[in-house]
Amino acid sequence: MIDKRPFFGYASPIIGFFNSEPAQGVERRTCMPIFRHPRRLVCVFLLLLSVQLACNLPVQSVNPTGETAVIDDLYSRTSPEQWASWIRKLSGAEPVQIGGETTTITTRYSYAMFTGQDNARAFDFILEQVQGWVRPDQIEIDPYPYTDAEHTYTWKNIIVTFPGTTHADEVVILSAHFDSIVVREGDALQAAPGANDNGTGVATALEAVRLFSSYQFERTVKVIFFSGEELGLQGSRAYVEDHPTGNIVAVVNLDMFGYDSNGDRCIELHVGTLPGSESIGEAFLQVNQEYGLNLSFDFLTTQATDRSDHASFWAKGVPAILVIENFFDDQQPGGCQGVDPNPNYHRPGDTLDNNVNLSTAYDVARGGLGTVARLAGPVRVERSLQDTWGPLREWLSGLFNPQP
Ligand SMILES: [Zn+2]
Repeated sequence: MIDKRPFFGYASPIIGFFNSEPAQGVERRTCMPIFRHPRRLVCVFLLLLSVQLACNLPVQSVNPTGETAVIDDLYSRTSPEQWASWIRKLSGAEPVQIGGETTTITTRYSYAMFTGQDNARAFDFILEQVQGWVRPDQIEIDPYPYTDAEHTYTWKNIIVTFPGTTHADEVVILSAHFDSIVVREGDALQAAPGANDNGTGVATALEAVRLFSSYQFERTVKVIFFSGEELGLQGSRAYVEDHPTGNIVAVVNLDMFGYDSNGDRCIELHVGTLPGSESIGEAFLQVNQEYGLNLSFDFLTTQATDRSDHASFWAKGVPAILVIENFFDDQQPGGCQGVDPNPNYHRPGDTLDNNVNLSTAYDVARGGLGTVARLAGPVRVERSLQDTWGPLREWLSGLFNPQP
């Protein structure tokens, strides 16, 4: 029936703590008597329950090997399928659940998103995802006014903050714009899938929030989802006006890095000329090398473009880089061969199947995640005892239900 093993001998002081019996001098060395006492059984139940509860609580422990272990661990918790599934959802290739309702996001055009169109609920979708991963006080909804020739609208960014441990006053930002657009063909209010531009960046930002919630960093990390980029960097320009920028040490802006028609795995890092920017680009190169991402680069300083949200930070003197596919013809010595501009740029054909080379793009995403983690100084791993609960549960069930 019940195997006699020493476990309850070790646990007996705890059991005894809950139990008023037996009186002094009564033998209490073995586990067997507990099964003749209902109250002791209750105590065993409470003990097991508390073990179960403890197993579900994250326990922080010092990570002995620092950055490498954290980034290896981080990479082990994501996959190309997981990453691409965000793009499918953001670009209308598959429906999404928002507040329990099924809907399909066919456009992320800012005019469509912030006028309540039900085919454009990317803001609600992203917000609901991050609410599932971090505490409410880590999420800031950042509204700003956008005025065109006729009206003033309220558009919004989403900012997720992971407070740093030892250098909380130094901020590292991962940013991606979540709005999309079509020009030259189609109707942006109806269909602007933007799987590559910038589903690739948003998928990475979502993975950043999901994954970073399991770690701690010396510096504060902010993951920012900008709107209004396609209409003149509106979200990032508003952000740098209504938030402090003097404490930002690095920005990694991910915008459209999925197209790679010739499979050369060559992308562009637009680092610019600000002091501090080059070391952000260097960090990306180091992550590429150390984690075997096998990417190559145009490393652009004086030829860097200002055509994405990183430029709003440059305007405030904040070091920032843009990570983008081989889009510009920059003749960088030792860089990408020629140029590989995607034919579906800002068109209804910007879908995952048409316009994203998953093999290259997923590794660029990993490069972005690893670079931000590296710059932020990952020092600890929050380890859940969950991993140890499985073997313990097996051992306990063997104790109660021994094999014949
Ligand atoms: Zn873009």
